[in-house]
Amino acid sequence: MRKLILVKYAPEIFLKGLNKGKFERKLMNNIKNVMKGVEYDFVKDEGRWFIECENIDEGVNRMKKVFGISEVCIAYEISRDMESIKKQALTCALKCIGNTFKVVTKRADKKFPINSMEVSRLIGAYILENTKNISVDVKKPDFLVNIEIRDNAYVYSERIKAEGGMPYGTNGSTMLMLSGGIDSPVAGYMMARRGVILNCVYFHSHPYTSERAKEKVKDLANILKSYTGSINLFVAPFTEIQMQIIEKCREDELTIIMRRFMMRIACKLAEKYDVDSVTTGESIGQVASQTMAGLVVSNDTADRPVFRPLIAMDKVDIMDAARKIGTYNTSILPYEDCCTIFVPKHPKTKPRLEEIKKAESILDIDELVKKSIDNTELFN
Ligand code: ATP
Ligand code: MG
Repeated sequence: MRKLILVKYAPEIFLKGLNKGKFERKLMNNIKNVMKGVEYDFVKDEGRWFIECENIDEGVNRMKKVFGISEVCIAYEISRDMESIKKQALTCALKCIGNTFKVVTKRADKKFPINSMEVSRLIGAYILENTKNISVDVKKPDFLVNIEIRDNAYVYSERIKAEGGMPYGTNGSTMLMLSGGIDSPVAGYMMARRGVILNCVYFHSHPYTSERAKEKVKDLANILKSYTGSINLFVAPFTEIQMQIIEKCREDELTIIMRRFMMRIACKLAEKYDVDSVTTGESIGQVASQTMAGLVVSNDTADRPVFRPLIAMDKVDIMDAARKIGTYNTSILPYEDCCTIFVPKHPKTKPRLEEIKKAESILDIDELVKKSIDNTELFN
């Protein structure tokens, strides 16, 4: 008998028709990346994927973070005879918590002499004979005992929910504007989960924002990396831009003009590094700069699609998501960010594009953007 991790991938991948092979190859590659440093073997049996590794817990912990995998199960591989299947099914059932169960059998090899329904019936009866206080419920069982008959037989009942989504790297790329806050790491996670390759840009206003603030953003990028593998993190200097805006523009227009600069730099970096789109952690109405008018005015500077996956989410739900993905505790560390240092008392909530364009025209926009890009540092 071998104890294996059964990998179940997201049902959406099955819908890809002719492209299914491409998605599977990506997923396989991503599994290899995440399993680096762990001794393991990849086992295939008629389309099913299994991982054999010494440290099953470590294997499960890593595999459940791979996008495109919907579930991992602890499966026992045994020979294809009813006696072995019965014994293992009973062992699995005894480990489960609950009063009702159902046996589900899949027969990939139709040459196996007993059909699936009959296998389920026989195994169910055997479990009932050898246990107390549990019964069968085919509609809403507390737990399932799964049996798959392939070249070998596999029995499993322990199922661990994984991330789901699409294999990382199957859906283009984005430049995530990653601040040290709660929202943007969640936005990045959501895009990556749909298979979009992440690059991150952080606007750093040294010395107004400290080294610690920059380290915090690196830590957040590292947490995202535990799902995706390596990520480029660009740190773009932003001090001069902010200083010029403060010096030359009206106080109530600072934030929106600053945001337009951030968007321009994110787009230019995207162009330079061949990244398809930009992503932000904005959510409609959350703060003064995230009004519809504000978003329209900052979006105007973008030359590629800008995605805001949190746009319709409530803050409490974003916070829950941050806890779940593991970024929350880092995000709430109190290091200042460049937007909190220079917050106007009464930022415009209904900026008008023509007015803002006119206001910022006294700045040498192209030169400021170019300088920031030229001095951007790359970490990965
Ligand atoms: P977050 O929690 O992500 O910081 P926020 O609620 O603080 O968001 P803002 O400060 O208005 O909101 O920023 C909105 C979005 O702009 C952020 O989600 C992020 O995508 C981007 N952003 C803001 N500041 C920076 C920065 N210093 N570097 C990179 N991106 C930034
Ligand atoms: Mg912020």
